[in-house]
Amino acid sequence: MALNRAMIFLGPPGAGKGTQANRAAKRYGVPHLSTGDMLREAVAQGTELGRLAKPLMERGELVPDNIVMGMVEERLARPDSAQGFIFDGFPRTVPQAEQLDKIMVRRGLGKPLVVEFHVSSETLLHRVSGRWTCSVGGETYNIYERPPKVPGICDVDGGKLIQRTDDSADIVRERLAAYDRKTKPLADYYRQHGVLETVDGSKGVEEVSRALNEIFARAAGRDGHL
Ligand code: AMP
Repeated sequence: MALNRAMIFLGPPGAGKGTQANRAAKRYGVPHLSTGDMLREAVAQGTELGRLAKPLMERGELVPDNIVMGMVEERLARPDSAQGFIFDGFPRTVPQAEQLDKIMVRRGLGKPLVVEFHVSSETLLHRVSGRWTCSVGGETYNIYERPPKVPGICDVDGGKLIQRTDDSADIVRERLAAYDRKTKPLADYYRQHGVLETVDGSKGVEEVSRALNEIFARAAGRDGHL
């Protein structure tokens, strides 16, 4: 089924947005757009944008809205996002959400479907501290809950697993604080627009996937498209 809309996965670091966005993107054949991944790529490539973003990301602070919006607009101009897309980690502030709404109107796409992931702070810290990511394909693991078959090696493509530098306990606390201050108000923003759904992100990957599929099916029934 064609998506024809933007889906937004909202939630703090470690809530499972990336894992679920990856799965949903494959299921619906649309791109998974993670602004965190785009920024990490810019940092790795040493672009001007990457140089601006690097110190902020290292401290767990948000990158300014204008930088993120420029990057997102550029990404959405590619033909693969004509049928919709799934955002993970974007928008992160109310001004980003307002600008995204304008982009949607310009592109003739309707309202986004926003899913907020609820997870307790202890679970988030536990998940993020155990998180290892494949340096090749981006598959994520958790050494406590979902370890790879061979330690340090990706089950999918044999790539080396690495830990994000901003996943250390101090920086995660900063990122959680930034989330509470700047991103949490987005739930109210989207609730007022009548597009907010929630899932219990503390459940396992399969269970959360099932809950999301139910939300998508309900939205498709209501809106006539997904
Ligand atoms: P993430 O991979 O989504 O946890 O993002 C990693 C870091 O990238 C964040 O801690 C921010 O510094 C930055 N970042 C990612 N997405 C955004 C965004 N939409 N707005 C501002 N900063 C962002």
